[in-house]
Amino acid sequence: MSLDPEDWSAFRRTAHSMLDAAIDHVAYVRQDPLWREPEKFSDRDVDIPLRPTEFDAVCRQFRKHILPFGSGNIHPGFMGWVQGAGTPYGIIAELLAAAMNLNCGGRNHIGIRLEEELVSWMQSLFGFPESSRGLFLSGASQANFVALLCARTRAMGLESRVRGTTGLGRKLTAYASREVHGCVSRAMEMAGLGSENLRFIGVDECYSINLRELGDSIEKDRANGDIPFLLIGSAGTVNTGAIDDLDALANIAAKEKLWFHVDGALGAFCVASSMLKPKFNGIHRADSLAFDFHKWAHVPYDAGFLLTRDRLSQDTTFGSELAYLSRNHRGLAAGDWWPTDSGPDLSRGFRALKTWFTLKTLGIEAIGQSIEKNCQSAQRLARLIDECPDLERLAPVTLNIFCFRFRSAESDHINRRLVEALHVEGKFAPSSTMIDGVFAIRAAILNHRTIDDDIDRFVRSVLDHGRRICGTAS
Ligand SMILES: *Cc1c(COP(=O)(O)O)cnc(C)c1O
Repeated sequence: MSLDPEDWSAFRRTAHSMLDAAIDHVAYVRQDPLWREPEKFSDRDVDIPLRPTEFDAVCRQFRKHILPFGSGNIHPGFMGWVQGAGTPYGIIAELLAAAMNLNCGGRNHIGIRLEEELVSWMQSLFGFPESSRGLFLSGASQANFVALLCARTRAMGLESRVRGTTGLGRKLTAYASREVHGCVSRAMEMAGLGSENLRFIGVDECYSINLRELGDSIEKDRANGDIPFLLIGSAGTVNTGAIDDLDALANIAAKEKLWFHVDGALGAFCVASSMLKPKFNGIHRADSLAFDFHKWAHVPYDAGFLLTRDRLSQDTTFGSELAYLSRNHRGLAAGDWWPTDSGPDLSRGFRALKTWFTLKTLGIEAIGQSIEKNCQSAQRLARLIDECPDLERLAPVTLNIFCFRFRSAESDHINRRLVEALHVEGKFAPSSTMIDGVFAIRAAILNHRTIDDDIDRFVRSVLDHGRRICGTAS
């Protein structure tokens, strides 16, 4: 029994109206609340649907009960965490990708070709050699994990895939600043190397890795008989947007014979701006670079990416010969490169399409300019906050992230409530973090829809809520 609609023209009418709903959702996003509490689905809707529902009715349910209750990140007032805002071009790309429904694990079709095209664009953007390898993954967490596995294979040889590393009697140790993203610890755990073997190195006043402490730590581990294998630089930390000295880290990695990985999830795309690019000097020297198209390049979720300098490193880490995946010389089962040989996934969606649509339509320069604008907004926010006696800056602004707090007694408690109140109000959504043991309101300005007026109104809103919560409203 075919599952296609019986009446294609009725389907087409409803489908067109849903396309309009999708476009309206983005075009008029500023008029909607950033966030509202999602309703509980009624009991009837929770039951698994054994019988069909009219497509029209399903669409109506979607518009009423699902569409308005998103996570806010397309809204110009969203400054929480580090999340991309998407673009309308992404809507169309996702629609078309679903129509093609490619499985991009391998075989001989345009999905693989387009992914290769994206790899070559990224080689040129980041100054990687043509011989390097690239691959879409769900996000930078996965990309960092895959890079770590490649580094392990290089350090311990192909054999480590079969025998593991537990019988070694020596520990593989990795190095990163204490500001490194939590997914790196988790990657050590998932790889079976143990998060206690990730050395957290202290930072300087800009929250970048302290190079002297790094050298000392490597030396100490070697003296202990451990095997230092991986150095991770942050190109934009999640707490404050700090950038490690990537060129200096590349030198240290070369001298110590470590795999040099850069986590560029947040910041790597800044190289699209000629103004910001110098801050990332040395990024092209990495053995591997993880980044996200779904953050500052605004490709719809999800679209992470990994570049590795040595084309074979991913293939020796993941490649296998399975009879049911054997290759032919011609036809659909041909093809030089099957992404499943370079990463953990077999079935993979067509992430290259939405990325191709977005980058091609906008151009890298426009993306760079929108990133610059976000960084200027963070500077504006910093100025406004410095001018206001009720507010206090908590960390320097390197890129687009600004950490501050409302001054008060019981500051941590008050500021936590302040962030909650802002979220519930649904106009602005900063997130929070701890800076040197202090609760901080964290504004990560990443949204290409955020304008100066949003920044100004955000500060007023923070003041209003802060004063009200402290009971000092005049
Ligand atoms: C977001 C982020 C990650 C994790 O990336 P995902 O795409 O969410 O998996 C890692 N590192 C940094 C610096 C990030 O900002």
